Amino acid sequence: MTAPRSARIALLPGDGIGPEVVAAGRDTLEAVARAFGHEFTFVEAGIGGAAIDATGQPLPPDTLALCRSADAVLLGAVGGPRWTGAVRPEQGLLGLRRGLGVFANIRPVVVWPESSGSSPIKADRLAGVDLVVVRELTGGIYFGEKTLTGAAGAERATDLCVYTTDEIARVTRVAAAFAQARRGRLTSVDKANVLETSRLWRRVVTEVVRSEFPHVALDHLLVDTCAMDLVRWPAAFDVILTENMFGDILTDEAAMLAGSIGLLPSASLGEGAGIRPVRGLYEPIHGSAPDIAGKGVANPVGTILSAAMLLRYSLGLDEEAAVVERAARAAVAEGVVTPDLAANGAAARTGDVTRRIVASIVDRLTCPTPVSMLHP
Ligand code: NAD
Repeated sequence: MTAPRSARIALLPGDGIGPEVVAAGRDTLEAVARAFGHEFTFVEAGIGGAAIDATGQPLPPDTLALCRSADAVLLGAVGGPRWTGAVRPEQGLLGLRRGLGVFANIRPVVVWPESSGSSPIKADRLAGVDLVVVRELTGGIYFGEKTLTGAAGAERATDLCVYTTDEIARVTRVAAAFAQARRGRLTSVDKANVLETSRLWRRVVTEVVRSEFPHVALDHLLVDTCAMDLVRWPAAFDVILTENMFGDILTDEAAMLAGSIGLLPSASLGEGAGIRPVRGLYEPIHGSAPDIAGKGVANPVGTILSAAMLLRYSLGLDEEAAVVERAARAAVAEGVVTPDLAANGAAARTGDVTRRIVASIVDRLTCPTPVSMLHP
């Protein structure tokens, strides 16, 4: 049992279903604090469309300052059809990632047999899937210079993709540390047959792994082959390392292995991640889901598992994280699930799923088989 500790956690609910799932994450963290004798304090701030409405800015300076002073940040989601102007909710998210220096996005994908029936992929392909995607988060084409020139009907648009040796080396160290602590396999994904940034990517990844992580087995895949192999042989992957845009696309594909986008967590971390506790930004991988916002049916599990990652990677509370993961899996195993996972319409509501998970944490109930998920 770990010694009691105190922590300050920033909550950024954001837009759409964000406030509903962040409330579930907070309930979970409060239950952990009660069960283990920790003292967590929560501070809430605006981001995204909600912040544009309140202040005109998607990332008000106060929000960034509050996140920088916290031990960890739990975020819901931003965006929605209401915000179509030049100031966009997503700018808040990109600014927050850059402002916190979190350049490595960690997305574990573990297929639980209890929910694999909801995946569009055949069950025999899903057995044993337990992979982590490490995506570079603050460089590449999403952050490069953008232009739009020319007269209407004859416009020309460009998006510059830039990577430096340092940006590639530091995210490689995070991915290799995760691989070293897991099954020791790292697959780097690029488009080196076409892109200069990918050729640099491949060279730097190879050098860093060879010189600093000699026990990690490294291979390289082109992004198109990786997209195919993720549905052909998903269980063959251990840790996948890739750049910003490829990672954005591949992680949504990988999410479908698990059965619902509402199940999957993520952590965005900086220097030292995978080696020691660091401040991080934690969020489910889904968006603000405006189609179901306010209906009480959002799946809270992705956010609750993000809270488990927060406990592990920012607060160093491994046992507590494992209790949360087992409680979430137990709820799914018992069929206490939201409509995205419910067969035959027997669905629970967001609050029911959260209460089931919180009750398990408080009782320290565990599911019958250990869950290996989320370990670096
Ligand atoms: P989305 O992830 O919000 O929704 C895709 C589909 O999945 C929808 O049918 C939705 O109902 C469902 N879904 C998502 N989360 C769910 C959950 N927890 N439980 C049950 N079902 C869930 O993606 P989208 O519709 O493409 O985007 C909607 C808005 O979210 C857009 O404005 C987009 O820019 C934004 N977005 C934000 C983030 C983020 O904040 N990190 C990420 C992706 C999209």
